Amino acid sequence: MKQSKLFTKTRKENPSDEVSKNAELLIRGGFIHKEMAGVYSYLPLGLLVFKKIENIIREEMDKIGGQEIIMTALQNPELWKKTDRWSDEEVDIWFKTKLKNDTELGLGFTHEEPLTSIMKNFINSYRDLPKYVYQFQNKFRNEIRAKSGVMRTREFVMKDLYSFSKDEKEHLEFYEKIKKTYKKIFERIGIGHLTYLTFASGGTFSKFSHEFQTVISTGEDTIYINEENNIAINKEVFTDEVKKDLGLGDNFKETKAVEVGNIFTLGTRFSDALDLTYQTETGDKKPVFMGSYGIGPARLMGAVIEALADDKGIVWPESIAPFSVHLLALGEDKIVLQEANKIYESLLKAGVEVLFDDRIDLSAGEKFSDADLLGIPFRAVVSTRSLKENGIELKKRTEEKGKIVSLDELLKLCLKKFTN
Ligand code: ATP
Ligand code: MG
Repeated sequence: MKQSKLFTKTRKENPSDEVSKNAELLIRGGFIHKEMAGVYSYLPLGLLVFKKIENIIREEMDKIGGQEIIMTALQNPELWKKTDRWSDEEVDIWFKTKLKNDTELGLGFTHEEPLTSIMKNFINSYRDLPKYVYQFQNKFRNEIRAKSGVMRTREFVMKDLYSFSKDEKEHLEFYEKIKKTYKKIFERIGIGHLTYLTFASGGTFSKFSHEFQTVISTGEDTIYINEENNIAINKEVFTDEVKKDLGLGDNFKETKAVEVGNIFTLGTRFSDALDLTYQTETGDKKPVFMGSYGIGPARLMGAVIEALADDKGIVWPESIAPFSVHLLALGEDKIVLQEANKIYESLLKAGVEVLFDDRIDLSAGEKFSDADLLGIPFRAVVSTRSLKENGIELKKRTEEKGKIVSLDELLKLCLKKFTN
């Protein structure tokens, strides 16, 4: 894409009404637009990153047998009354609204109830189990705090998967599998080394739930990391009893972190309340055993920025960067622009995702600082100087100094990445 055509522009100044680094950088880079506190729109660059994260999650969900659907945001209270989750005393984050005839509706903050209700139509016998169903869908939550930029918003997309199993044993097999899958997702997104499987409070059907917590100094959560076992415990359950229970010794390091994912054993809480049962091999009737598994792609995007950005701007991991290469044409020399154009065309033809800074009214310094702000992994500069040396000055976002490469070398480098 040509940067001169992009409708968004970068800004030099931080927005005055943001306190989080992720929102500051995303707004300055033109990735997102703030509608109001805790509500953001995704602009072209932001959407590219968002889609990459979404696709990584989708690929991993499909690999373990997930079937994708989309449910509605509008929710029927009658269903939620059956599980005691309609009243504001039980759930304090509902956004509620009304039809013209005064009938109340809610905007879903999660989707256990509607999916359990859908599955009643399709699950009858043990032969219908297990099943795994997921969606990427907008959740609405009337969050009290909205100070973490895109990491805690009042409207956000969640990947929520729900598992339907015959019994606890079958459920736990999947639960262990998805733990590994979640690890893989965070690794692919570039924060695996900072993300810990964390014990958190459970429910009636399991002592613990599991969160995936990414170490970030501005995080809202406090966790205790046990490095030997590569595991952590959330402060909310960090007691001597729990430590002993888990047999993790006594060597813990307290740190701030952000919950990027959450997996939960629901048991028969929803299948009992909504009557989702199946017939066993021996003809008995049993409630389906359920689990739920959430990840917020936007929270991940924010966490990546909080964890990896430097004082010059964003540093996107290659897997989720909006483009692989940021091609910059410097100066007003027509030949430079012509050559850069040719390089741009060659890269496009080879299938490389490239943002071409072809803007003619900007200084080299301005283009460099925009490139640092946008955080694209490779910066390829074409200038009178680079052309004199017969090439392109290539630099990684994380490196101080670049090196001169030929177009062939640049193409080879990009193509090698694709085949990896
Ligand atoms: P938290 O403890 O941070 O409030 P939660 O435990 O309520 O989150 P879940 O309901 O388990 O979150 O949601 C699953 C995932 O959705 C979270 O792990 C997180 O990645 C994401 N998420 C939750 N709330 C928000 C939000 N307000 N804005 C953006 N992403 C969110
Ligand atoms: Mg939580």
